[in-house]
Amino acid sequence: MPRPQKGLTVHKFGGASLADAKAMKNAIALVRGTPGPAVVVVSALAGVTDALLEAAGSVGRKSEGRIEKIAGLLALRHRRCFEGVVPPGAVRNALREEIRRAFGELGLLSRAPVFLQDLSPATLDSILARGEEIAARIFAAGLTAAGRPAVRVSPLDLIATDGRFGSASPLLSETDRNVRRVLQPHLKKRVVPVVAGFLGAAPDGRVATLGRGGSDLTAALLARALSARAVFLWKDVPGILTADPRVVADARVIPQLNIREAAELAYYGAKVLQPRALIPVARRRIPVFVRPFARPDEPGTEISRRRTLARYPVKALSAISGQALLTVTGNGMLGVPGIAARTFAALHRDGISVSLISQASSEHSICLSVPQASAREARRSLLEAFAEEIARREIDGVELASGLATISVVGLGMAGTPGIAARVFSALARGSINVVAIAQGSSELNISFVVAQMQAAEAQRLIHESFQLSKIGGGAVERSARADVALLGFGSVGRTLAGLVRGSRGGRLRLCAVIDRGGYVFRPRGLSARDLSELSAAKGRGRSVAETSRGTNSSPADAIAALARHALSRPILVDVTAEATGPLLEKAAASGFDLVLANKRPLSGPRDEAQRLTKAIASRGRRLRYEATVGAGLPILDTHRKLVESGDRVVRIDGCLSGTLGFLLSEIERGASFSASLKRAIASGYTEPDPRDDLSGADVGRKALILGRLLGFAGGPSDVAVESLVPARAAKLPLARFLERLSEFDGEWLERVRRARGRGRALRYVASVSRRGIRVGLLEVAPGSPFHGLKGTDNQVAFTTARYRSNPLVVQGPGAGLAVTAGGIFNDLAELAGE
Ligand code: ADP
Ligand code: ASP
Ligand code: MG
Repeated sequence: MPRPQKGLTVHKFGGASLADAKAMKNAIALVRGTPGPAVVVVSALAGVTDALLEAAGSVGRKSEGRIEKIAGLLALRHRRCFEGVVPPGAVRNALREEIRRAFGELGLLSRAPVFLQDLSPATLDSILARGEEIAARIFAAGLTAAGRPAVRVSPLDLIATDGRFGSASPLLSETDRNVRRVLQPHLKKRVVPVVAGFLGAAPDGRVATLGRGGSDLTAALLARALSARAVFLWKDVPGILTADPRVVADARVIPQLNIREAAELAYYGAKVLQPRALIPVARRRIPVFVRPFARPDEPGTEISRRRTLARYPVKALSAISGQALLTVTGNGMLGVPGIAARTFAALHRDGISVSLISQASSEHSICLSVPQASAREARRSLLEAFAEEIARREIDGVELASGLATISVVGLGMAGTPGIAARVFSALARGSINVVAIAQGSSELNISFVVAQMQAAEAQRLIHESFQLSKIGGGAVERSARADVALLGFGSVGRTLAGLVRGSRGGRLRLCAVIDRGGYVFRPRGLSARDLSELSAAKGRGRSVAETSRGTNSSPADAIAALARHALSRPILVDVTAEATGPLLEKAAASGFDLVLANKRPLSGPRDEAQRLTKAIASRGRRLRYEATVGAGLPILDTHRKLVESGDRVVRIDGCLSGTLGFLLSEIERGASFSASLKRAIASGYTEPDPRDDLSGADVGRKALILGRLLGFAGGPSDVAVESLVPARAAKLPLARFLERLSEFDGEWLERVRRARGRGRALRYVASVSRRGIRVGLLEVAPGSPFHGLKGTDNQVAFTTARYRSNPLVVQGPGAGLAVTAGGIFNDLAELAGE
């Protein structure tokens, strides 16, 4: 055994912790302050490995200076970073030169000949290595400058590997020896070795990478060789969470995980740890702490040999997307030994990793899931392996299904707790999620199953909820301040709202997508002003948003599914259509969207439909706002809510709820004709898409029903008594014909208004709502009534409550129009984003 370095700690900084000079300074300060000997492992700066991969992917493709551009940007970023942490002087000059060389050479690749198009894995590794190498140099210089002597040590002198470029495996005992030999002298002199993570040496001495995320593995290797007291992996998350926080918003930090659980999670796709990272410390008493870089004092997650949290048989979920399923079937497999073994052997020979295997107990079939990218190759290698059985018809063949994801449910306590699998699958059944294949590891540490990729996020949320993982005790991910907004519908209200959201201050709302009947446009980083004007122009020409340059054809349901697959931040879907969108909204809620509705239909249809929607939203912990469905931007639902919250009881609500009808009646009172007034109402954006929805009272009826339901009205649309102002002969006309013939109705409208005036009264279209009944229609109101003085599009709503019994509480203001409606929706959005 090595002589342990007493109290030695290994600190690994992930890319996010080294994003820029400020982050790097933080990391340096953190190491500077650690008592006792320390070793540092660094990743490349955030995004650098991806950028290098992109550059390498452009080699030989003549992609217009792409490589030079990337090289230039990388050089600039690194320069900014080191200038922030290394003071001027000789060291800084040497670093500048080094960076110039590293990325200058990269730029040269843009002139590489076409035959180099497929870079060899070894060449690719030598390109990727630059990110970590430069980061280590900057870090060592910065730490020394900060007062704690440090030295950069090449990983090639430490980490011996098998030389499999791209995903090299470390050779443990050789690495142990190298690390002790090279690092101990530095440590004795109290110098901090700084090592580039992710890299090792192939047997021939060339650099080989350890697979994506490999610096976690480097840290564990060094810790093992030096018998460190602990390893700290500093990341941009508060610890290992119960699920990927980008998929399950209420994921929580797991205070402690057994090393076997953590390894299982990593192996089954939790991106937070490299799959092989824990192998070096598996049999050692070296705890690994995953901690939030931004808040180093928080405990994060401890990975160790302890077993805690016994109340949680399941501790976490992970998912691997982009999977395909191969099924080998045939009667001849029955009772024949070794089929499974041969299946694995064949795939192993071709270097294909299998994430799940399950065999039906009838032994009639074996299923296994493999990465989509190697699916064809895997199928071919199985067909070859079983060529004889296929020829003899003992095996029917090998089927391939794509577009799948493997989800794993992990926890040590599963072994002793009956019914875990049942709970997993009944949670999935509740969400109507079809399970394509199931496997339980013999360790009973994990249950894995395969579902359609489209349903993977929802499946994880359902299981997370069913095991109450949000109560596991650790903190949550700091909620992003920003909410991503998707618009369903892009008519005039939608377009006005889009302008408001884009122009809004504080950066809390970001408009990312617009969906209409034909498809969608999605820009994860937000739609630009240019995107919006292109979209508006297309809609103006009667086109779908799908027909714009960034548009995608799809059904609205598929559009929502596509958005849900992205890591949106606190997504909100705004329904500004006038259609029956209930099922679509349910789906959005199930996919994690909060909802804002200006569309009345989903909440004013049959009672069971409306209830289904509100229940679906509540059961997913999502939130719903629909202020703009009644009285546009007026705070009507808000007033109701505040009354109830303050302990008052609302007995009835009376109101003039139609901006259009209010406008028409007051224009005609002033002497204008019905036809001219209606045309103005249309032109001003007051009316529904078909103005007969306003004239018939249908629109007011819907609003009244929404209000009635707040008061406990149990009926549906047919229980609302609505007086229609559309003459029977106009009801069935196509919209265009109706609009042509408007003046035919001028006479009867004039007559109506005049008759009321003769009696000293005014005509108003009034909704009267209580728990017991709803009536909507024309009323002649006397001058004493609050409704008498209403003008134009103003709405007025009077709340009669236990407190405001004889003198109702009145809310009044403009109740129609693009700006006020969009304003009302915007308020709902701002409220959801602010909470
Ligand atoms: P590093 O900066 O060390 O390279 P990574 O970026 O590799 O860290 O890993 C952290 C990321 O892993 C997080 O940003 C998070 O999005 C993702 N992640 C996926 N699953 C989990 C999980 N269960 N717990 C924490 N983070 C997770
Ligand atoms: N920079 C490498 C990657 O992005 C290794 C790592 O970050 O651990 O995969
Ligand atoms: Mg990583």
